[in-house]
Amino acid sequence: MAKIAEIVANSVRPTFSIELWPPRSPESEAKLELALPLLERLHPTFTSITYGAGGSTRERTHDLVVRIKRMTSIEPMAHLTTAAHKKSELVAILERYRSAGIENILALRGDPPLDSQAGLELGELAHAIDLAKLARSVGDFSIAVAAHPEGHPESTDLNSDRALLASKLEIADLAITQFFFIADSYFQLVEDMDRLGVRKPIIPGVIAPTSLKTLERMANLSGLKIPDAVHERLYRVSDSAESVKSVGVEIAIELSEELLRRGAPGIHVFTMNEASTTVQICEGLGLAR
Ligand code: FAD
Repeated sequence: MAKIAEIVANSVRPTFSIELWPPRSPESEAKLELALPLLERLHPTFTSITYGAGGSTRERTHDLVVRIKRMTSIEPMAHLTTAAHKKSELVAILERYRSAGIENILALRGDPPLDSQAGLELGELAHAIDLAKLARSVGDFSIAVAAHPEGHPESTDLNSDRALLASKLEIADLAITQFFFIADSYFQLVEDMDRLGVRKPIIPGVIAPTSLKTLERMANLSGLKIPDAVHERLYRVSDSAESVKSVGVEIAIELSEELLRRGAPGIHVFTMNEASTTVQICEGLGLAR
């Protein structure tokens, strides 16, 4: 069984999945080489591989997805974004995945990288839902989409954002959320989808905040709510990178425990290609197999 939606639906225990980036430099390549065997030992349910909106990682994402499929025991999910792409380019990418035996796609619109000054160039397909439909027509893929528990930062109001997500989830098989720090935000999203008649798995995305500066930057850009307690715990130890890391892992574990206790189907960890924090979260939750 290689379709992630089926694996999640049939899992008798909470799933534990991870997100990886394709390396951008010889240093980040070396870091990934060290991390991959450590992460594989956790037997994650699947790993998703990011895609640089506009195609900046087109080959590297493809290569890492195919390598993970062929050389490891982990099932990969390829991220793909509509941004800056023609429809024909997206078809070519999807057909190439299909030929390589890749069965799982995360259909996204895309965002410019955090450090980019340039805006996002929209693609021929404007929204993730259009890509989810395209992927359905190209192959027998299991299709995931992104969800934003506190609403997408560009949306005018939460109700219309929820309605658009519900339409997207009618096409897709499951959703993975953006990371957040307030468990109620996730359960409100699940309840809102249920009210709109959508009952597909929604896997919460979790991050260990290991840098106060990056976290504040992300919050400013995305409107993410950071509880004062999270901010204070990180601020208190901010003179030691090691202490920030271990407090960040504690915060991620506490949030994940609450999410799982209240019924989330699993946890998706944004690893930033960091094996040590991911191993600590997985083991801390008792989800290593
Ligand atoms: P969409 O679903 O297209 O939504 C974008 C905005 O348009 C929202 O405000 C929505 O309400 C609105 N909208 C949606 N459909 C319609 C419609 N039909 N008409 C009008 N408005 C509409 N980005 C990357 O660049 N690369 C990655 O690899 C990547 N991985 C991610 C992984 C996860 C798990 C998550 C949660 C996000 C990821 N992102 C990635 C970020 C993502 O691309 C951004 O959050 C982006 O801003 C929105 O993407 P989306 O797929 O939700 O877009």
